[in-house]
Amino acid sequence: MEFRYLGNSGLKISEITYGNWLTHGSQVENDIAAKCVRAALDEGISTFDTADVYANTAAEQVLGDALRGERRESLEIFTKVYHPTGPKGHNDTGLSRKHIMESINGSLTRLGTDYVDLYQAHRYDFETPLEETMQAFADIVRQGKALYIGVSEWTAEQIRAGHSLATELGFLLISNQPQYSMLWRVIEPEVIPTSEELGLSQIVWSPVAQGVLTGKYKPGAEPPAGSRATDEKGGANMISRFMNDEVLSGVQKLQPIAAEVGLSMAQLAVAWVLQNKNVASALIGASRPEQVSENVQAAGVKLDDAILTKIDDALGGL
Ligand code: NDP
Repeated sequence: MEFRYLGNSGLKISEITYGNWLTHGSQVENDIAAKCVRAALDEGISTFDTADVYANTAAEQVLGDALRGERRESLEIFTKVYHPTGPKGHNDTGLSRKHIMESINGSLTRLGTDYVDLYQAHRYDFETPLEETMQAFADIVRQGKALYIGVSEWTAEQIRAGHSLATELGFLLISNQPQYSMLWRVIEPEVIPTSEELGLSQIVWSPVAQGVLTGKYKPGAEPPAGSRATDEKGGANMISRFMNDEVLSGVQKLQPIAAEVGLSMAQLAVAWVLQNKNVASALIGASRPEQVSENVQAAGVKLDDAILTKIDDALGGL
């Protein structure tokens, strides 16, 4: 495994992060979830990402249970706050001081740890003053409940405003967590240049586009049994944005390119996001341990410019 610094901080994280959205506490039984975490650890992954909202808090609990007994200093544990996690009361959402302070305590209990390495604002809150949010994060860092602060899916402008307040308040805002893959390149024009300027990294989610870039979904064919596209607990809905013949046909053109460089399509997709130096880690999900073992082989892979051009040409305007 290779490690990269997260933003302008001294924190090193594994190039591949293991995440448990839609899987732990939902699509995947707890014993398989534990095996996926074991596979991640055995492959050298040290960084784990979850959120209080995943499976209405169950995902944090399952991850905490699976990591129990591991040496805490060898792990980086990340979680997030914003979304409501149960019955939606009037203060159970967003980035108010009240919701942040209550949420971190619940997350720490479920994860079985005294602190998270990175606490992330899952979305931007347009209704709470940013000053209030950042002061709450500053206090959480001072209390030792989180070591660093990150955001997720913030625009370049929001990142700039948040970074400026964090600097004033004396804590490190070091990362953004956006969707990024060969099929979703929204962050390239603005978020990445702004992050580079300010010293934030990206931790990118869905690098294999939830399974689509593995090539297992064929145009005009039924999705494989047990795959996310058949998961009625939420996965099928989430992946539906990619499940059309135009995208699935385009993706099949990546097969010979992957073969040329001796990678599986999943490995090519994960390696692709890691070519960008502003990406500190590719945040992968898995429904079985073999997927972790396969995808992790993308760490440290270098793709040359000719291959990157072939990928762009194959996907055209998708
Ligand atoms: P991926 O793009 O890695 O998709 C993972 C899924 O793809 C697996 O569960 C599996 O689904 C399928 N898959 C992966 N590898 C293979 C393989 N080698 N062969 C066949 N199928 C494969 O990422 P996710 O969409 O799961 O997201 C990863 C993490 O990102 C989340 O756990 C979460 O931590 C984070 N995230 C953050 C968000 C945010 O707003 N900040 C939003 C969403 C995710 P199956 O077998 O069921 O088909």
